[in-house]
Amino acid sequence: MSFSHLGLSEKVLAAVAATGYKTPTPIQDQAIPHVLAHRDVLGIAQTGTGKTAAFTLPMLTLLEKGRARARMPRTLILEPTRELAAQVEESFTKYGANHKLNVALLIGGVSFDDQDFKLTRGVDVLIATPGRLLDHFERGRLLLTGVELLVIDEADRMLDMGFIPDIERICKLVPFTRQTLFFTATMPSEIRRITEQFLHNPVRVEVARPATTLETTKQLLVKTGREDFDKRDTLRRLIRSAEGLKNAIVFCNRKRDVATLFRSLKRHEFSVQALHGDMDQPARMAALDQFRKGEVTLLVASDVAARGLDIPDVSHIYNFDVPFHADDYVHRIGRTGRAGRSGTAITLVSGSNDAKAVAAIEKLIGRTIPYMDAPAGAGAASEGGESAPRPNGGRRHGERRPQGHRGHGGGAGRQPRRPAAPVARIEEARTRRIPQPPARSRNDDGDAAHLPAFLLRPVPVKA
Ligand code: AMP
Repeated sequence: MSFSHLGLSEKVLAAVAATGYKTPTPIQDQAIPHVLAHRDVLGIAQTGTGKTAAFTLPMLTLLEKGRARARMPRTLILEPTRELAAQVEESFTKYGANHKLNVALLIGGVSFDDQDFKLTRGVDVLIATPGRLLDHFERGRLLLTGVELLVIDEADRMLDMGFIPDIERICKLVPFTRQTLFFTATMPSEIRRITEQFLHNPVRVEVARPATTLETTKQLLVKTGREDFDKRDTLRRLIRSAEGLKNAIVFCNRKRDVATLFRSLKRHEFSVQALHGDMDQPARMAALDQFRKGEVTLLVASDVAARGLDIPDVSHIYNFDVPFHADDYVHRIGRTGRAGRSGTAITLVSGSNDAKAVAAIEKLIGRTIPYMDAPAGAGAASEGGESAPRPNGGRRHGERRPQGHRGHGGGAGRQPRRPAAPVARIEEARTRRIPQPPARSRNDDGDAAHLPAFLLRPVPVKA
């Protein structure tokens, strides 16, 4: 079946042909004719199913009739994160290549004035995160009474992020008679309530998760110590010993841990970027771009930041934390093993709470995930095992080439520098007055707090 039977306009079909897509995905096949018929649609589909084009393509067709007026967007798309919003904008650029439509993005971390300027020109498609949209609305810079079509994307993620009250408010600010397209991967009761309240006689379109993921991804568990430094050590060993690692995403449950793990991996000279909600927009886009282009090998990310991102196939997924929600596990590992390629997803498991979360995941996916042997020496970070010389002394996955600058702890191709025993160092300081390396504490895997520089200055000691 081709795109031509769906009722899309010639301009849209030409743009689709230019992208090289030949066949509509199931969600596109099922949703597009209903969108073109002005029906409300409840789409139960996750990212990776082609759902963005399922609403972008018919919207472009519908928007060919009519014109935008200043400050009164004709259509509104709500996205939970800035990255997703930016990605949808890219879709409009790609599929709207033959249209002259004004598309504006209202997301946090970008100047209000630029966004305001775009609104005054008249907007055909407004793509926004809920908070920034309401900010503009409250400043009186935006009228929502001209919205003909409203898209609520990734609704269950909106729920996780606490955006549901904003969504409810926005739904009441747009005309009652608008068309609504609502996408969610899951249907918790709160989402069901919203759909019952704000969708009018919707067509329900449900597509299965892409089946390839679970079949082509090798899933493994690895036992690790409970402390974060143990987990970081295990992770480094896993990455260094991984077979065929091209690039990897490392998932943490909390954004604070993303930042810590990112700094740690960087100190250990891995080629790494971070993606979490506290980074400003340009930094997030730059990080993602670097990862997409292969300029960095590892991306440490939180679920929220990574949700729905169109990241090309990755070879490895590491769950530094077992996800709180079993659904997130499926979503995380869906980043690898795409399009029939093989991928590996390894989850670090420490303690009984993790084991319980793993049991929930196994129940959801209907299979048991086997344990692999812990990589050699894991858990020995505190004993300096992390610094042990490598058999080939060479660079390993994700590690940067050794540079002039020395990081802390072990790095690629370098000889370990074992700190001298504290007593010996004091003796040496007494006699030679040379700066000393910091003493390593019990839990030092290279990430623990360092001694301030003034404490390391040699102190003349009277005999
Ligand atoms: P989405 O679920 O919207 O995030 O789309 C996932 C990926 O599938 C994106 O990289 C799209 O460019 C791609 N895609 C969307 N529609 C098609 C199609 N009909 N054929 C092939 N790839 C598609």
